Amino acid sequence: MALVVQKYGGSSVADAKSVKRVAKRIAEAKRAGNDVVVVVSAMGDTTDDLLDLAAQISPLPPKREMDILLTAGERISMSLLAMATNNLGIKAKSFTGPQAGVITDAAYGKARIVDVVPHRIRRTIEKGQVAIVAGFQGVNKKEDDVTTLGRGGSDTTAVALAAGLDADVCEIFTDVDGVFTADPRIVPTARKIHRVTYEEMLELAASGAKVLALRAVEYARRYGVPLHVRSSFSGAPGTLVSGTYGDLIDPNAPDGDEEEDVMEDPLISGVAHDRSEAKITVTGVPDKPGMAARIFEVVAASGSNIDMIVQNVSAASTGRTDISFTLPEGSGPSALAALRDVKGEVGYDSLEFDDQIGKLSLVGAGMKSHPGVSARLFGAVRDAGINIEMISTSEIRISIVTRADSLDDAVRAVHTAFGLDSLEGEAVVYAGTGR
Ligand code: ADP
Ligand code: ASP
Ligand code: MG
Repeated sequence: MALVVQKYGGSSVADAKSVKRVAKRIAEAKRAGNDVVVVVSAMGDTTDDLLDLAAQISPLPPKREMDILLTAGERISMSLLAMATNNLGIKAKSFTGPQAGVITDAAYGKARIVDVVPHRIRRTIEKGQVAIVAGFQGVNKKEDDVTTLGRGGSDTTAVALAAGLDADVCEIFTDVDGVFTADPRIVPTARKIHRVTYEEMLELAASGAKVLALRAVEYARRYGVPLHVRSSFSGAPGTLVSGTYGDLIDPNAPDGDEEEDVMEDPLISGVAHDRSEAKITVTGVPDKPGMAARIFEVVAASGSNIDMIVQNVSAASTGRTDISFTLPEGSGPSALAALRDVKGEVGYDSLEFDDQIGKLSLVGAGMKSHPGVSARLFGAVRDAGINIEMISTSEIRISIVTRADSLDDAVRAVHTAFGLDSLEGEAVVYAGTGR
């Protein structure tokens, strides 16, 4: 008998009809002879609606209260799903994150899972029942408060439970048929990827491909949990996320064949995009040692995570330079305030804030061993008449910043330039608002 952890995202349980449809899938998995643990997200756009509601009450609500509010979304879906499953003659019980033994640190709004002690879930399985767990939430034992895991955190709950229960597979059910070579909402000709390594999925998720939450992929890699990303609306097989780049090289191949094995793997796994960042430019920074250090010290102290950084060559006549960096849009105000505080000390001229940027990232383990990938990327963007404002690279990723309103065109142009377009018709987006 296999132990299966199934996670259903918000668009899969958006209304009463969808909840009943998902209950049928759960019943099928159970009747097929599996032990089944389910993790469920809040219905539809509930979490966004709760965030909007809180914003109408308070511009800066206490983080603890925010987390208590947001965990309500998953409590609604878990109990309704348990009712629907019971109606089909399958015994099911719902549990909050704390009841399921998801222990986190105290970082409200972005808590990390530090332990999983799923005693009650185990007992439920042993009784032959289905456990339905609220995703995205846990408990901080020190304060005995509920916490949330950050947006998309139900994926992380599912992976952590799969690891804690030593499940055979963790299935992530969503509103598309798997992980595609680009977001099918932007590139209808995107192709489904059958298998992708943890490293590539990490880069895609970190670059904005929200089909899987970044922390869930990190957790899956650390504990070796294979993920199967698939649609809750179809029976089609999805994408397997497992293994590492090293596994692609056959250890038994005779000398000289390793390269060939790698070459057979696609050069590029996909194109991700991200509209959630903003750019800050500090102009007229005196070009002397210690200035960059000071700027980024205060930005770090404001709690902002920096992504890309560009420093221009200083103009010989002025001895001054401009430094630009990107960060999550929401961190903008606190980073700007921190920089204003050190204006006198650093002696820069001005600060510019730009939230109309978009980031495109090309990801693929194969680019390690192939020259010319950057040139082809930049050429495709040039041919689309789009200007590149910033560039950064990792071993298996190249990212560029463009104007936000050119981003979709850039993604489509790059997708085509790397031969990723599917010849088999358009990808299906079954549900969801893309919010
Ligand atoms: P869920 O509610 O199931 O958690 P999400 O909205 O969080 O679903 O994630 C699924 C969405 O991720 C898809 O509808 C799609 O628009 C988006 N997405 C972005 N990049 C990709 C990609 N490379 N492959 C598939 N989907 C992607
Ligand atoms: N409901 C939460 C969110 O919208 C968690 C999740 O869906 O994974 O971010
Ligand atoms: Mg999600």
